[in-house]
Amino acid sequence: MLIDAHAHLDKYGPQDEDGLESAIAEITQHKIFTISNSMDLASYERNLEISKRCAWVLPTFGVHPWNASQYTDCLGDLNKAIEQSPMLGEIGLDHFFVKDASAYTAQRKVFECFLSAAREQGKIVNLHTKGAEREVLELLERHKLSRVIVHWYSGPLDVFQELVARRMYFTVGIELLYSKHIRTIAQAIPSRQLLTETDNPGGPKEFIGKLGMPVLLKDVVRGLAEARNTTTEAIVETVQANLAELTRDDPWLTDTQRKISGEWQNGR
Ligand SMILES: [Zn+2]
Repeated sequence: MLIDAHAHLDKYGPQDEDGLESAIAEITQHKIFTISNSMDLASYERNLEISKRCAWVLPTFGVHPWNASQYTDCLGDLNKAIEQSPMLGEIGLDHFFVKDASAYTAQRKVFECFLSAAREQGKIVNLHTKGAEREVLELLERHKLSRVIVHWYSGPLDVFQELVARRMYFTVGIELLYSKHIRTIAQAIPSRQLLTETDNPGGPKEFIGKLGMPVLLKDVVRGLAEARNTTTEAIVETVQANLAELTRDDPWLTDTQRKISGEWQNGR
């Protein structure tokens, strides 16, 4: 089983039904357990629908920092989706792509709303940290969160080491093949904290020149095996074991654990 711990399947549609159909077919054929992150309420609805069509998909709710300013006045509307979601993502801060500092207050408010819910409800979070890595670390400390997936970490190495020391998990994606900095990080992640991702479909576009498809994960696995001087089989096994460990005994994710632990055979 392959693990795509950070993707956005809702973004294949609704204008791109064929793309979504192909993505679901690849996920099923190659047995890619996929955590499909949401950026807002509408994308969560779409991810929920997609998960009904493909048992390899785990839909999670989050408000992306790019959308935070739309939600600060109506955090109450988010509570139902937060409670329903078995994991929370994509959430976080972005001080890199968002240059307008006046948006940072809203980002922080929405992020903290999710972090306190994650703490209260005992849920894993899937984080965006671009350009705000130190601030994210401080907020994780304040909310005493440790069950964390840090998605596509590309920040400074000192903050990275602090996140590593706190036993957080890191997804590595296709930029590994194109960036020395990402390759350095991919080599430094301790084995038991390593996860894989695509950030499909939009994330890989600037690297591969088109929308990413799920099977791109195989290139990520090959790149990781090469960078870490091991085999693709070892990477696949390690990543699957890591997601099993991260989700172990999580009451929100009993179905996920059953799937990852291998009791579940025929993904549809
Ligand atoms: Zn993402």
